[in-house]
Amino acid sequence: MKVSYSAQLMEESVFRHLNHLERSGYRSDYDEFHSLADPIYELPEDDREIAFEKVNRLFFMEKLKLGDHVLRALEAVGLIPKRKRTSKKSALLKENQALKSDADFAEADAAILPGEFIEGTEADNVEQVEEEAVAVVEDEAPPEDNDEVSYDLAREFEERIKEVIVKRAINKVDEGSNVLNRVSGNPIIEMRVLASRFSNPEEALDLDAFLIQEFMHAKDMVDPEFDYEDAFIPGNPSVKNLITSRFRLLWNMYVDARLGRIGVVSVLPKEARFREFDNFYRKIPDKQRRGIFEGIWVTDKFTHEELLSMATDLDTLMSKYVDPGEISEEERDFIHLQGSPCPLCKFPTYNWVDDPESICDEMVLEAIQIDFPDWESKDGGCDRCIEVYELRAGVG
Ligand SMILES: [Zn+2]
Repeated sequence: MKVSYSAQLMEESVFRHLNHLERSGYRSDYDEFHSLADPIYELPEDDREIAFEKVNRLFFMEKLKLGDHVLRALEAVGLIPKRKRTSKKSALLKENQALKSDADFAEADAAILPGEFIEGTEADNVEQVEEEAVAVVEDEAPPEDNDEVSYDLAREFEERIKEVIVKRAINKVDEGSNVLNRVSGNPIIEMRVLASRFSNPEEALDLDAFLIQEFMHAKDMVDPEFDYEDAFIPGNPSVKNLITSRFRLLWNMYVDARLGRIGVVSVLPKEARFREFDNFYRKIPDKQRRGIFEGIWVTDKFTHEELLSMATDLDTLMSKYVDPGEISEEERDFIHLQGSPCPLCKFPTYNWVDDPESICDEMVLEAIQIDFPDWESKDGGCDRCIEVYELRAGVG
């Protein structure tokens, strides 16, 4: 696996990070950057771009160590094995109060990077970093059995994935991960992230949580056990949107729950996910709704197909997590979820009238029952149908 960063991401991240340091009163890296970058304007125009890119890369990778966020996230999700740790700061990371918090972090967490990760940096620097680091590797306890399994698994992913490309997102909506060449067997993970996330060392934890969340999704997409497929979702655009949103929520829950089990902080706490879940499934009675949520949360493994069928169809969700005795089939039919079909017109319904009896004239119910003798008020209907029958009954 090769990890690479787009020139735009490195440029904007370095620019923002250095400016943040400078505004906070720490000038040394900022000044050093300018001492290298400013003379580039005197070069012939054709040579400038490459020269700027070199300086940006040096700062992104070596001086500010912004690429380490990506490597740590890849380690955290098991896309690359955890590297041996070193307690020594890189010689290139100079004693600098400005980087105090960063340095502490790096100290606890700095990985010895294999040459492939420092691809594109000056060869001299690479050697220097490796020598420094190797000299201070601390003895480690032999890995537990469990660690060995996850090491081998991560090793497999690392070998199978051709490349991770990290690019600059143009806005929040553009952020996220995707897997290219998934089917051909040479998968490339493309990650888009806002450069502004790299600007403030105090927001490093948010950046890490974001990267980990996205890499978890990417890992699922290349995991044969998850068996991701570009599934066709039937229905009109609003149904598709609803199913897609529910699917995304269930998949996020699956990601969060696994992160929670290995003690990694997610982008959202569990209760916040429950509130999202609550919104989509409000119509399910409280107790069962919480039960379904907890059931999903403690499930070790899902496939793509399982998550999608739960997102598409309430029955699948209910039959998995609600005891048959707990809620009768009849009651279940009266849970009018957004997107379920109206019993009258059969169209997916977003605006339900749950119990027309409570708001409509008796004549409206009778008008409906002329067309649908088995229909009862608690079956409900979409607001349009109810309106039509109100007109027909002359009470609209
Ligand atoms: Zn209807």
